Amino acid sequence: MMSDALTPSPSPNGRGEQDHRIEFTDRLAVIATMHRKELAIAPVLETSLGVKVTVAQDFDSDRFGTFTRDIERPANQIETAKIKAEKALEISDADLAIASEGSFFAHPILGIAYNRELVLLLDKKHDFTVYGESLSADTNFRHQEISSYEQAYEFALQIGFPDHAVVLIPDAQTSAKESIYKGINSEDLLKESVHKLLRQAPQIYIETDMRALYNPTRMKNITKATEDLVRKLQQLCPNCNFVNFDVVKRIKGLPCELCGLPTRATRANVYRCDRCQFQQEVLFPDEVQTADPMYCSYCNP
Ligand SMILES: [Zn+2]
Ligand SMILES: [Zn+2]
Repeated sequence: MMSDALTPSPSPNGRGEQDHRIEFTDRLAVIATMHRKELAIAPVLETSLGVKVTVAQDFDSDRFGTFTRDIERPANQIETAKIKAEKALEISDADLAIASEGSFFAHPILGIAYNRELVLLLDKKHDFTVYGESLSADTNFRHQEISSYEQAYEFALQIGFPDHAVVLIPDAQTSAKESIYKGINSEDLLKESVHKLLRQAPQIYIETDMRALYNPTRMKNITKATEDLVRKLQQLCPNCNFVNFDVVKRIKGLPCELCGLPTRATRANVYRCDRCQFQQEVLFPDEVQTADPMYCSYCNP
């Protein structure tokens, strides 16, 4: 793929030919999780990178925000993952840390639920972070107002209960931790909790439990994000061998198949190394040299 370089590599920096190759084999990586995310993350990292994975002991990741609104997130997803990774390093002997963050939102155009999973690696020894990402419509993220056990049960079946758990909340605004019922994954528990809350209010809220260990669908997306992380870690800079030699910019202007004018389709991708700043343009990344006229503002204004 890199052989199509538009600008053949000028020796990119004045620093000479430094080798920034990162060795992962047999290093200890600590995962910052208390929701069993290691089940989704560890096998991929161990197989692909040869690291030894351990789980941070007594790590309270809920301090850094929860899905059930009782604790707000301190920063955006990437920053939160970095903070978690730093904390996990403080309480372990590892110099590699892994943290993961998920978010759920409605697609701005389609309106359907989306899950963005992020898995971040922090390398303290070599001072860098890289994250992998998975954006997927495969999520059971949902919530609903209910007033009977039957409605609660119907909702639960729709989201894949009991493999996937549900959460019950007295009202949408509540932040009182003691009145939120999480991890409900049996009919008995569901019945008991619904009746308890319905005695306090005629309408209550039910929603999917999005914590990884209660949500196998989310676990799958975390695995995908981990695979994306590995891809970036294995994509090495041709100049210095540093990780994450990835696309930083897409250049438009692929010529129109009909009239030859530049269109808004991608003509080249620009890759850049964070460590030595080496840059490479790769022509025709979509493996076509002309664009469909639908992207042409002359042929299809
Ligand atoms: Zn480099
Ligand atoms: Zn055209």
